[in-house]
Amino acid sequence: MNFMSTFLTFENLHEVRRLCHWGPIIALSVIAICSTMAILDSVIWYWPLDTTGGNINFIMLINWTILILYNYFNAMFIGPGCIPLGWKPLHTNYDKFLNLAQENQQDMQYLQYCRVCQGYKAPRSHHCRKCNRCVMKMDHHCPWINNCCGHLNHAYFTSFLLLAPLGCSHAAIIFIMTMYTQLYERISFGWSTVKIDMSPVHQFQPIMPFSVPAFAATLFALGLALGTTISVGMLFVIQMKVILRNKTSIESWIEEKAKDRIQHYQTGEEFIFPYDLGTRWMNFKQVFTWSGMPKGDGKEWPVHPKCHQHTLTIEQLKQKVDKRVRSVQYQAVEDYNGACCPLSKGLQTFFRTPCTEEPRIPLSKGDIILATRGTKWWMYGDKVLSEAQMRVGERVRGWFPRRCVEKCHYDTAATESTSEKKVN
Ligand SMILES: [Zn+2]
Ligand SMILES: [Zn+2]
Repeated sequence: MNFMSTFLTFENLHEVRRLCHWGPIIALSVIAICSTMAILDSVIWYWPLDTTGGNINFIMLINWTILILYNYFNAMFIGPGCIPLGWKPLHTNYDKFLNLAQENQQDMQYLQYCRVCQGYKAPRSHHCRKCNRCVMKMDHHCPWINNCCGHLNHAYFTSFLLLAPLGCSHAAIIFIMTMYTQLYERISFGWSTVKIDMSPVHQFQPIMPFSVPAFAATLFALGLALGTTISVGMLFVIQMKVILRNKTSIESWIEEKAKDRIQHYQTGEEFIFPYDLGTRWMNFKQVFTWSGMPKGDGKEWPVHPKCHQHTLTIEQLKQKVDKRVRSVQYQAVEDYNGACCPLSKGLQTFFRTPCTEEPRIPLSKGDIILATRGTKWWMYGDKVLSEAQMRVGERVRGWFPRRCVEKCHYDTAATESTSEKKVN
């Protein structure tokens, strides 16, 4: 499936509505501003096209823009791949007489059922409330592409996360050099010891003077380019870890809950994450292929030799039955004011704030929270409220930094779970 056919096929035309959302509007504006300013700055003021270097620079800038948009639109319009509505696991060998694949009753018992999609959830798929579909190998719903990041678009999404910081770094260098060379003769930096050979720059007369609006626009674009480089670069690191471990952020949380369950009941089970194929290279090749499409059909997956197709789905069912493990109990050890990107909770917490529109909840020391999912730096859950608040039907649910809480010991968890039952 190449870009043009994806873009032009009629069935995908309704996907164009995905553009009408603040995420794509902001993301595309940033791409447009940085590319346009970088091209204008270099052609008019910094590196004119009548030099070889200027031509190479220009071609590289155009290339970044094309590659970034190609991966961005593919991530958005190809999407993660959805499990067909009403999907059921089928026998792998077809019934030769009826020429029909038959329902696999045995596999059905190992899978969760999605009431919205009226079908079974294939291994690694999850229902996305924003997309309103069960998504293949769902990692998260990304507001910037207004679509889920999952099986089919994982490589495009991650390539975009790599290319955007590279392109923005190139643009940032152009912006800095433009401002420096244009302001060099007008203002004194007092750097008499700094000597840069400016003769190539002064060999040509700019088509127009570097005015105050041009300076302001360049400075603004520089801010955008640097911000994008840092924040998108961080997202790239996170997605590369997901790919190299072959473990989505949702699955990391299932694994954490599995370990918690095994430890709590002392079942002596050994939990092996089934989709990690052993080496980073093997995991990498599952997502990145020459065709651009990942390996597999999004429903059946290669697994670790000690595991089988349903190792993780059976674990998910066990967790569903075990009400206790639906949430892990934490206690706040630090106050948190509910800021989206808190300044006082460390750099990682600041930059790795979850990319969702879901709320953040303020915490005070001593608060008990039942966490239902989380990332390495943030967690999502319900605050345990007083009985009076419960009676009113109040609910405080949202994200908070992981460093503000500590996991409760089981003795306190046991006493809390009895009070929880009372409320339920
Ligand atoms: Zn569903
Ligand atoms: Zn989604």
